[in-house]
Amino acid sequence: MTQNKSPQTALIHSDYQAPPGFAAFPNAIHHASTVLFKNVAAMRSGEWKDKNAYTYGLHGTPTTFTLEARLAEIEGGNHCLLAPSGLAAIAMADFALLKSGDDVLLPENVYNPNRELGRWLAHDFGITARYYDPLIGAGIAALIQPNTKLIWTEAPGSVTMEVPDLPAICAAAHARGVLVALDNTWSAGLALRGFELGVDIIMQALTKYQSGGSDVLMGAVITRERALYEKLALAHMRLGLGVGADDAYLVLRGLPTLKLRFDAHDAGARTLAQWLKARPEIATVLHPALEDCPGHAIWQRDFTGAGGLFSVLFDARYTQQQTDRFVDALKLFKIGYSWGGANSLVMPYPVASMRKGWGQEGQLVRLNVGLEDPQDLIADIQQAFAALA
Ligand SMILES: *Cc1c(COP(=O)(O)O)cnc(C)c1O
Repeated sequence: MTQNKSPQTALIHSDYQAPPGFAAFPNAIHHASTVLFKNVAAMRSGEWKDKNAYTYGLHGTPTTFTLEARLAEIEGGNHCLLAPSGLAAIAMADFALLKSGDDVLLPENVYNPNRELGRWLAHDFGITARYYDPLIGAGIAALIQPNTKLIWTEAPGSVTMEVPDLPAICAAAHARGVLVALDNTWSAGLALRGFELGVDIIMQALTKYQSGGSDVLMGAVITRERALYEKLALAHMRLGLGVGADDAYLVLRGLPTLKLRFDAHDAGARTLAQWLKARPEIATVLHPALEDCPGHAIWQRDFTGAGGLFSVLFDARYTQQQTDRFVDALKLFKIGYSWGGANSLVMPYPVASMRKGWGQEGQLVRLNVGLEDPQDLIADIQQAFAALA
């Protein structure tokens, strides 16, 4: 065959095969839309949902299967599906589990695009989306209706930081046959064991700690139950939620150092939170490891660590203009959304207009503590306090 190929065909078809037996620590990056079948029988026998054969790039390659399996293992789940962002992972769960006429409950402090998705489902898809006090605990039972299908939880809420009582919410939900989904991004799947506390579905924004590089958008949905996984897999397929092989590789590359990085973020954030607590400019430090944080006792009961993300409420005497000047004066903390990377970030949030029933005064500023020396970050905040005057 080789002899008769024209150079034009040889550019496309080659008989060369690299020698077998190559081994190295990094995972191989398999790029593929088309996946090749040995013969027609092999093509017909592959069941994409089983992930035991390759059928099409969207349904998996060795690179994405490996990442899915490793993420499921870390969370203590059995099945994992990747999505091109954390928000796409949330949407996958909603479209898999909700249909017209159903009801979904979301916490008042939920990640804002998840709230926005709820509004869209309610406005255009005939689904009711209702919002509950994140500290409601067992009281959620009173909100469950016959058509309630899904309860979202976020632990803690990533701006106002209240820690929900997951076992109480799950017990009330399961008594009525309602599924509970947990956004476990803050804990990186390490510091909170969602399945052990009773949740049915765990969602992760891998964009944050798993990537760690501020350079990837990706999300995951993880389950234990096969039947639940099949519903999610259908939504994943129908919505076409493929991820790029290079991005999957970047997340795989981040996993071995995830615990070390997470612990360093945790230690740095607690150092800053303690320092801020003693400052006269700050009224309240909303960090789950501090007693001021609503749900602190639940954090102590259920978590084994804390992320690098927390918020502060400035003393009520400072106007938004003054706290905006503080944010602008920071040098090491850059103004930007997201978190989980090496760089510290800061973001002011208009919490009074975001949160119905938010009873507290004072401007809210969220800090994402990166991997810099905490003492340099403290010095940065200290110099920026001068801009409040
Ligand atoms: C960032 C984030 C998401 C969404 O992740 P993206 O990859 O940015 O879409 C969802 N939930 C929480 C709590 C987040 O912080």
